[in-house]
Amino acid sequence: MSENKRLLDDESKAFSKASRVKYFNIVVDSGKGATITDADGKTYIDLLASASSTNTGHSHPHIVKAIQDQAAKLIQYTPAYFANNPAVKLAPRLAALAPISGPVELSWGNSGSDANDAMIKFARAYTGRPYIVSFTGAYHGSTFGSLTLSSVSLNMSRKIGPLLPDVVKVPYPDPWQRLDGEDEDAFVDRMFKAFLQPFETYLPAEEVAAVVIEPIQGDGGIVKAPTAFVQKLAAFAKKNGILLAVDEVNQGMGRSGKWWSIEHFDVEPDLMVVGKSLASGMPLSAVIGRKEILESLNAPANVFTTAGNPVTTAAAMATLDVMEDEDLVGRSVKLGKKASDFFAKEKAKYPFIGDFRMYGLDGGIDIVDPETGEPDPEATTKLIYRVFELGAIIISLRGNILRFQPPLVITEEQLDQAFGMLDQAFSELAAGKL
Ligand code: PLP
Repeated sequence: MSENKRLLDDESKAFSKASRVKYFNIVVDSGKGATITDADGKTYIDLLASASSTNTGHSHPHIVKAIQDQAAKLIQYTPAYFANNPAVKLAPRLAALAPISGPVELSWGNSGSDANDAMIKFARAYTGRPYIVSFTGAYHGSTFGSLTLSSVSLNMSRKIGPLLPDVVKVPYPDPWQRLDGEDEDAFVDRMFKAFLQPFETYLPAEEVAAVVIEPIQGDGGIVKAPTAFVQKLAAFAKKNGILLAVDEVNQGMGRSGKWWSIEHFDVEPDLMVVGKSLASGMPLSAVIGRKEILESLNAPANVFTTAGNPVTTAAAMATLDVMEDEDLVGRSVKLGKKASDFFAKEKAKYPFIGDFRMYGLDGGIDIVDPETGEPDPEATTKLIYRVFELGAIIISLRGNILRFQPPLVITEEQLDQAFGMLDQAFSELAAGKL
């Protein structure tokens, strides 16, 4: 594929239209494990896991009980003034899971978006530097700071500017930028040169506080940066006193086959942003990082009345129990392999499957025009609605990439059923029946 094909304006529009409207005309009424049931009583296999926020599945009994017990005891006393019991227990447990050596601290938030804003605050306060560097194709959230870091859709910045100053975008090394015949080393070298270009022309490294990366981009299309690129990035950041911040909001909590997606790269971040599945979809997020960085911000520069609330932190404690007791990270690896085998067979059968990527249970399947290899958002939409009719929920990224992210508790039987539905939709598309 030629350079930048996926970053064209038209595709941003396709993404905005296809992905930001409500996909299906249903009201979700209940959920259990890897299924949801609508208000009319029809049950669907959930291949979206509520945007990867329910890795432990819907309404897991252990988590429901923890929420009920905590709600009966204390729903809220603002963590801005007093510590609460579940949060006090959760903090060291979560800090111990972070792939950061030395003393680790954290700060609670209510969403991935506000935690990314917090990351900016901590990075600026600690370094005393203004600039933040982020990558094209990224999605970091919808608050002003996190949205400024993002660039997955043009509609994110239309009508609402000016955005946050001093945020610089550099190209994400995604495989669609690879030139014909270019090997991995040459690709990494070229992309790293492109990364360095602002630093060599107008951006003094000593004025940059942090570089933030999704080690595997989610909304950008489930694309993994080459390991060598992330390692070079980490080395450059360290050499220049720039903090390396990783956004694990979507790809953390076992999604990619590791606890945190940065663990695929053998580098240590300074700051990590988590959310979504942290409390199985209850509103809880956190910035986790080296203690001295987290201690650099003056109170009350990052305080929200409900952040770190007792019910959400109790839900997170129970979520970590389930992750450990049911070995959901191992399950992500095992079932991801099964999914990978399935999509490899489908790719061999159907020329409109241009490519697919699967990291743990974190998958992206490109639907293209078989003649030209160009993205085919229309065929993708047809597939999505046919799969929906057959009884599974799947959505697209960037218009033509099927996003395959079921809850990690999905059973092998449910996976097989979902594969049957996908295969049927693929075969109908191939036969011109859709
Ligand atoms: N970061 C990433 C990588 C995400 O995928 C998202 C949400 O999709 C966010 C941050 C924002 O999280 P939230 O929607 O909880 O604010």
